[in-house]
Amino acid sequence: MTEPKKRILTGDRPTGKLHLGHYVGSLKNRVALQDAYQCFFIIADLHTLTTRPERKYVRELTQNIYEVVLDYLSIGIDPERSTIFLQSALPETFELNLIFEMLVTVPRLSRLPSIKDMARAANIDDEAVPLGLIGYPVLQAADILLPRAHLVPVGKDNEAHVEITREIARRFNRLYKKTVFPIPDVMIGDVPTLVGTDGQAKMSKSLGNAILLSDDKKTVEKKVGGMYTDPNRIRADIPGRVEGNPVFIYHDAFNPNLDEVNDLKDRYRQGTVGDIEVKQKLAHAINTFLEPIRERRASYEANPGMVEEILMEGTRRMQAIAQETMTMVYDAMGLTGPKLRRALHSGEPFRLLS
Ligand code: ATP
Ligand code: MG
Repeated sequence: MTEPKKRILTGDRPTGKLHLGHYVGSLKNRVALQDAYQCFFIIADLHTLTTRPERKYVRELTQNIYEVVLDYLSIGIDPERSTIFLQSALPETFELNLIFEMLVTVPRLSRLPSIKDMARAANIDDEAVPLGLIGYPVLQAADILLPRAHLVPVGKDNEAHVEITREIARRFNRLYKKTVFPIPDVMIGDVPTLVGTDGQAKMSKSLGNAILLSDDKKTVEKKVGGMYTDPNRIRADIPGRVEGNPVFIYHDAFNPNLDEVNDLKDRYRQGTVGDIEVKQKLAHAINTFLEPIRERRASYEANPGMVEEILMEGTRRMQAIAQETMTMVYDAMGLTGPKLRRALHSGEPFRLLS
């Protein structure tokens, strides 16, 4: 008998179209692991409410959900093998989140630099931090543990959150039943955090320094043409720095022609190549990488209704597993309400005292 496949859970907030940072941080691993694992990819719309609960932003999510599913399909996520689902469609997510809130302390969560970073990025000052933002990693733990996942491929900025998930899973298992949750491992991509085109530490949509997976050829050329390089190199005949230079970080990540990359690096160090050539070759490499992704995107776009069908089918599959997990959770805890709820559904008798 073959062992059942281990499970992956990871995903993205539907804040817009996905970019090269998402690709190297997490998407690439997802595509590669589709056969070895049973994969669950969550579109985490509830997580966007932690910083942007206003109706205007909630309404924008619908379009973004569509774009993220298209991005998944276009990079080669196969909806037959992998499950793509929508977080807010599953009441079990809300339920497990509440149970998990009891298993982690406020100081543990408040100390996480990522929470402070998200608050800062959304212009929320210390006094105005919502409870839900402090609880961001708890909701993520509910996402990861609802399908009882073993592995979580994410970018570096999410590593500390997976650690919180591990702590919650251990605590639950210790309090109630050893065997309910696996302790999931984190898997960081080849490039743990991809820098932005402007040289900022992280490529991010909100910072306006991202190259999107859906950008066309001209847009890529323009964005690469405007990229930040070695600021001390004001002329092409001055030796430049390759290490930490965004154009070379991108060459390493997206240009498979190693001879070309090494030649450019040598000449850059010697001051015998201009930024223009380095950037033209980079734009070419990125466009070559994106071309099949764009083609697949166009073919799915030409098929109206397909994205919705895939999301419905994925959410249906996930729903069955979510219900199974919650039965395990409530049985392990011995909580009365879920038993009452089951009795209401099945018409079987309900006894408080037996
Ligand atoms: P953005 O700020 O661009 O919207 P994000 O961090 O908000 O990006 P999330 O939906 O929170 O995007 O994260 C989705 C996944 O992509 C996470 O695993 C995250 O670690 C990864 N990721 C996002 N940006 C980068 C990046 N620049 N480099 C590597 N991984 C990244
Ligand atoms: Mg985002």
